[in-house]
Amino acid sequence: MASSSTSTVYSIDVTNCIKCYNCQRVAYHSVDVYDDEFPYFINGSVYSNYRILINPPQGYLEDLDEAIAGCPMECISKSIHQKRK
Ligand code: SF4
Repeated sequence: MASSSTSTVYSIDVTNCIKCYNCQRVAYHSVDVYDDEFPYFINGSVYSNYRILINPPQGYLEDLDEAIAGCPMECISKSIHQKRK
């Protein structure tokens, strides 16, 4: 029988980031500021202008969702991916 697993992926596209650091303030467990002064995900990955975080701990999701809502430039997004096993 086929089963599926779900991945929750958070992304910051810093292309339009104005470095207000609201995301770092509200999701300080997950977001920090890098040497280039743009935010990045602690334990995440960096691909060009994108910062990616896959399956953060459940306890951090609320703060991350608040960071999405609070970003004035709509840089942060969340997507759910289903993978068939
Ligand atoms: S809240 Fe948005 S605009 Fe502000 S630093 Fe974070 S990603 Fe950049």
